[in-house]
Amino acid sequence: MTPTNSPYVVLLATGGTIASRTSTNDGGATLAEDTGAAILQTTGQGTVPVEVVDVMRKGSYQLTFADMLSICASIRQALNDPLVLGVVVTHGTDTTEETAYLADLLHRDPRPVVFTGAQRAADHADPDGPDNLRKAIAVAASRDARGHGVLVSFAGKIFPAAGAQKVHTANLQAFDNPDGEPAGAVSDTGSVSMHSVPLRFDPLPVPAPEVEAHRADIVAIYPGADAALLKAALSVGSSGIVLAATGNGNANPVICAAVTDATAAGIVVVTSTRVHAGPVLPVYGNGGGKDLQAAGAIPAGLLKPSQARTLLHLLLTLKMSRPQIEKHFFQRGGLLPHAATYSLPTTPLKG
Ligand code: ASP
Repeated sequence: MTPTNSPYVVLLATGGTIASRTSTNDGGATLAEDTGAAILQTTGQGTVPVEVVDVMRKGSYQLTFADMLSICASIRQALNDPLVLGVVVTHGTDTTEETAYLADLLHRDPRPVVFTGAQRAADHADPDGPDNLRKAIAVAASRDARGHGVLVSFAGKIFPAAGAQKVHTANLQAFDNPDGEPAGAVSDTGSVSMHSVPLRFDPLPVPAPEVEAHRADIVAIYPGADAALLKAALSVGSSGIVLAATGNGNANPVICAAVTDATAAGIVVVTSTRVHAGPVLPVYGNGGGKDLQAAGAIPAGLLKPSQARTLLHLLLTLKMSRPQIEKHFFQRGGLLPHAATYSLPTTPLKG
């Protein structure tokens, strides 16, 4: 159904498995090929008009930070029309947690933005994309989903972007928030129930298009890790490093010494954890998290490496000072939920 002058949902298609099929050339690899219109057609006749915009057609493992910012710009552009009820973004599941979180950090509108995708390709005998998309459209059109920021809707569950993680490579229930509850659910008939109180922070400014490119990298910590990877990242111009540290955020004395040097040189180092749930807690000495903090590393709280890196990349791009970066990780790391001070815009809701 295409929009007339009645309220409608915008579908921004970016690629991913939901748009993919087995290629006849290229060695039979699965490639993102379908247009947004083709994806929408698989959902059948819906009850709400949908306008399709093809933003890009890529596997999400190919995306750059610039691509992610361009998806966010398309979201803002879609929301310029007051007749738009909400926006659905079809996206590869591999990096949905990064793009959806970036979009959430920049989102300043009560209308829902809903990311979805698929685990099975469009040419699978029993694809999950059509059902996921049908449900995401229902969430985007729902008044109940307003004010919850950017959401990930997948296999009937709805998650806030912050904290959403891809938790399985193949299961249809691909997403979870291991540190929290889903924000809601959407039924097979498209009925949406939201059951959490949204925790919102003030949106961050949108980086200017001509802004200087920054580089932020994730460095893995493991038994016997030395500083070679961290130094390699710095040698190619990283201005921010997220440590995927062990346990509640630990490394070793060699890494701590490298963090001291990096911090002294103005590099921002953040400690996250390679564990899928739970906060970073600066507790241990002998190269553990307490020493990392003393060396200058900022604890990421509950933010896992993918989203900690996304936040750090954005803050560096915005040229935030180190104290400002610390403040954002402290608040958005989720250890202080009462620090949330966001209040929704008071502009009238249409539709
Ligand atoms: N497996 C991924 C997907 O679900 C591939 C990608 O992220 O594009 O789309």
